[in-house]
Amino acid sequence: MLRKSGLTYLISLLIASSGLAHQGKALPEQQALISKLTGHSAIDGQTKMTDRASAESRKLTADYLLREVNKFTDKAYLHTYREDGNNVVGVINATVDTDSYVVIGAHFDSVKNCPGANDNATGTALIYSLAKHISSLDQRRHNVLVVFFDEEEKGLVGSRAYAKLIKDEGLKVHSVHTVDQLGWDKDGDRGIELEMPTDELQVLYRSVAKNEGLEFPIHYSKVTSTDHRAFRDLGFKATGITEEYVNKDTTPHYHKESDTYETVNFEYLGFITRYTQKVFEAILSK
Ligand SMILES: [Zn+2]
Repeated sequence: MLRKSGLTYLISLLIASSGLAHQGKALPEQQALISKLTGHSAIDGQTKMTDRASAESRKLTADYLLREVNKFTDKAYLHTYREDGNNVVGVINATVDTDSYVVIGAHFDSVKNCPGANDNATGTALIYSLAKHISSLDQRRHNVLVVFFDEEEKGLVGSRAYAKLIKDEGLKVHSVHTVDQLGWDKDGDRGIELEMPTDELQVLYRSVAKNEGLEFPIHYSKVTSTDHRAFRDLGFKATGITEEYVNKDTTPHYHKESDTYETVNFEYLGFITRYTQKVFEAILSK
C-alpha cells in the first residue's frame, strides 16, 4: 500500500487542528458490542461465543441485539422468517407525518469456527451506533428501519426474506444502506468502498465528506456478494459500505478462526461511523 505523502500528512495535521480529531477515536459502545459478539467477553454474563453460525448461537445473538435495539427505538421485534431464522428489526419513527422509510442494516451471523469480528461484528456495531445517533436527532423526515440480518453467510437468506417482506407490504423506501466488514485499515487512509451506489447516493456520500472537511478516499465497486444485493434485486435503491475490499486493504483474517476482536481497528470504525452519522443527518433533513 502507498505510504503517506508529505501532503497527506499536512492535511491530517490540519484536520486534527481544526477540531475534528475526536472523529478518529474508538467508540466504547462499539468495543463492548464487538467484544460480546466475538466471545472476547460473555454475551449474556456466562456464554462466550465461538462463532455465530449455529441456530443456537445466532438466536443468542439476535436476542442480545433485540434487547440493545429496544433501548432506543420506538419498536423492536424479531422478524422470524422461518424456524431458526431471525432478523432483528428496530423502528425509529420520523418526526414528521410521512410514509417514507430508509433502511439501514448489517448481517450479524458468521461462518462456522470464526468469531466474525471484522465479518461482520464491525458492520453490526456501525449500524448500532448509527441507529442510536438517528434516534437522538430532532429532525427525521423519513422513518428508519434498523435491521440486523441473519444468515447472510448462507446466501443472503435473512436480507432476501426481509426485502421480500417490505416489497410485499408495498413500503415506500427512499434507500437501503448495508454495511459488511469495516474494521481493517492497514494503510491508515480511512478509505471506504461504496458498492453499487446510485448516482444520487454517490453525490450524497461525497458531498457530506466534503462539507465536513473529511479527507479520505471513497471508492466505488461493483461488489454484490452481500446484503444490499437482496434489496436491489427487488428494485430498491441500495448501496453497500465496506473497507477497501477491492482496493486490497481488507482483513487477511476473512472467514478464519483468527478474525478476532484484537484485529479490529476501532479508530477507523469510529471515524467511518461518525461520518455515516453525518450522511444520515443529511438524508433525514431532506
Ligand atoms: Zn460479511
